[in-house]
Amino acid sequence: MKSLGSIRRDFAPWNDPNAKPYIQFDKVIKKFGDFTAVNNLSLTIFEREFFALLGASGCGKSTLLRMLAGFEEPTAGRILLDGQDLRGIPPYKRPVNMMFQSYALFPHMTVEKNIAFGLKQEGMPAPDIEKRVAEMLRLVKLEQFAKRKPHQLSGGQRQRVALARSVAKRPKVLLLDEPLGALDKKLREETQFELMDLQQELGLTFVVVTHDQEEAMTMADRIAIMDKGEVMQVATPAEIYEAPTSRFVAHFVGNVNMFEGKVAERAANTTRITGATGAQIVVENAAETANGADIVFAIRPEKIKVSSKKPADAVNALEGEVYDVAYLGDMTVYHIKLDDGQMVRASALNASRVTEDPLTWNDRAWVSFRPDAGVVLTR
Ligand code: ATP
Repeated sequence: MKSLGSIRRDFAPWNDPNAKPYIQFDKVIKKFGDFTAVNNLSLTIFEREFFALLGASGCGKSTLLRMLAGFEEPTAGRILLDGQDLRGIPPYKRPVNMMFQSYALFPHMTVEKNIAFGLKQEGMPAPDIEKRVAEMLRLVKLEQFAKRKPHQLSGGQRQRVALARSVAKRPKVLLLDEPLGALDKKLREETQFELMDLQQELGLTFVVVTHDQEEAMTMADRIAIMDKGEVMQVATPAEIYEAPTSRFVAHFVGNVNMFEGKVAERAANTTRITGATGAQIVVENAAETANGADIVFAIRPEKIKVSSKKPADAVNALEGEVYDVAYLGDMTVYHIKLDDGQMVRASALNASRVTEDPLTWNDRAWVSFRPDAGVVLTR
């Protein structure tokens, strides 16, 4: 069985035509004065999905989340949850909770009181509250910290209290706006896995807003890449990375090489492309292109092989010179300046400690890649 990326996904309701959507944004427009923050956006999220909204600052992701929570109403269009139109329903009546950052904890209350706060307000009987709080403390592994105040906790622990508090009322959907923004890199990474475990254990639907691509790739079942109030692509992390549908998405996530060119000749499975400077390459996956069409071939650095001699069996091999080399420990990154002037970035995993055929600055070098190593983009 083949799959994009190396992970098999057993949970994939978006591929099932009979699966019922859980959250639906239907042609949603949000204007602030004459500024359009969300532009005719449609999007479907499934129950139990871990969904990430990823985009640069100001692209409208928080606005989308705030409309789902009920803090803002769309200017036009509908938002449905489990088939119900949410228009006019106040935030506290929606089965949705928003997790705010750790500093939103009550400083004068202990951890357990912080977690119990919403339940008390709701009028839950005291014995039930006690049981629920104990369950939440176990879930976020803070049993020993129940009597501490927020200032006696680390940043990561405070974040977990905030999380426990926001899921204590058992919302159906948890919205997280840059949930790990206040944590340092190492703690962020640990907490990402904790969040995924928690979401699995509770069986909730998570919608997380982030501008950190690695975070979205790690945690999400699917990612929506946003730009200027519009969704550019919705797909699994592996599809976003391996099969972007536009230059914007290819550039937004990870590093990428772009070969500009024209379709020169189409065969059954392969397409020959003439680059802007005459170089010829042969690629697969160019289904929707016509002869003579302007296209760009996008290929990730790790799909490109660098060698001192022309590989005998390579379909695509281009010659140039080593312009830069960076040794990063786990891998080495090469910048190769091709003879036609184009700069190519290639990376090689340092799977062994010793290299047989090392390259250095100004060496002649060949870059080679398979016809199926990249994607052809028309927009
Ligand atoms: P960030 O990552 O910086 O939070 P974002 O993608 O979440 O960015 P939003 O907060 O959704 O962006 O904002 C989208 C756009 O709408 C921005 O240009 C912002 O200035 C504008 N905007 C948001 N709220 C309001 C408001 N209440 N009044 C006017 N403009 C607003």
